[in-house]
Amino acid sequence: MNNFTDELVINYHITEVCNYTCKFCYAKWDRPNEIHAQGSDAELMLEKLAQYFFNEAGNKVKAVFPYKSVRINFAGGEPLILKKRFSQLILKAKELGFNLSLITNGHYLTNEFIDNYGALFSMIGISFDSQSIDGRKNIGRVDRKGNSFDEVDLINTVERLRNVNPSISVKVNTVVNSLNYQESFVDLITQLQPDKWKVFQVLPVLNNHLLVTDEQFTEFGEHHAQLGDVMVIEDNDAMTNSYLMINPQGRFYQNSSTQVGYLYGDLILDVSVDKALSVCEINWETFCSRYQKPHTDNAIKLISNNEYLSKQSEQLVFSNQGELV
Ligand code: SF4
Repeated sequence: MNNFTDELVINYHITEVCNYTCKFCYAKWDRPNEIHAQGSDAELMLEKLAQYFFNEAGNKVKAVFPYKSVRINFAGGEPLILKKRFSQLILKAKELGFNLSLITNGHYLTNEFIDNYGALFSMIGISFDSQSIDGRKNIGRVDRKGNSFDEVDLINTVERLRNVNPSISVKVNTVVNSLNYQESFVDLITQLQPDKWKVFQVLPVLNNHLLVTDEQFTEFGEHHAQLGDVMVIEDNDAMTNSYLMINPQGRFYQNSSTQVGYLYGDLILDVSVDKALSVCEINWETFCSRYQKPHTDNAIKLISNNEYLSKQSEQLVFSNQGELV
């Protein structure tokens, strides 16, 4: 366990609703009854998780991965679209002792939110795919009025986050697709200096929109080689069975290793956490390596779609568009 971080991360996909409509978005769970909308059920679920993960007794996760802290990573859809409800859950999770992080498209990352809640987060990841309004429109990264989070917004938001919370870790996630693979992010990323710039190749998880060839993806990586100290490209193996993930309904879920699609556990509120977790076939070696510290794998690693497609027959590879950590 040497060099591994001691933080367990639980990705809570709080909602699948989003103000954007990215063509490659995978965040579709058929809008199940999202638990945040059911009275205080989401709070009760967080309490149940805290009781399990902050105690040793009967905790099968801690038996394998002796973490010292637990982080709830709020993801979506777009968590901030829930506005006040999301704020309530942030405060509840913090009160229970969880560390917090957030994955967002940035659109609702307002000054007010940052000033009120920015200090509560240890990490915020912002997805950003194009500096061109046409690019964002064609990707679907605009709201119904055509508004979108642009590069000036990104720069101002990151600056404000760092002012409010100097120790916050900032990540930027970019999905390389047929509309942006020739775009240069060198100046923007150089100016932003994120702690990590995660670069993904768009994958045909739910459809074949905006795919790039392996050569185009390689071209993108080569063009940005000088950013290798912050640029990270994660391979599909590392994306598989290496997170604890909760869907909007309040179930742990995992990619299936035997069929295409996800496997879902029981509702966490209905059974013991142990039982709810039994759906998760966590590869602990991969799981731990995701959170290895210090981060040593800054090499540019390009994943081919052929490699992806050959795996797809075996399992649904977790899409990069989920804007995870
Ligand atoms: S990829 Fe992210 S920003 Fe785009 S529609 Fe899906 S959840 Fe929203």
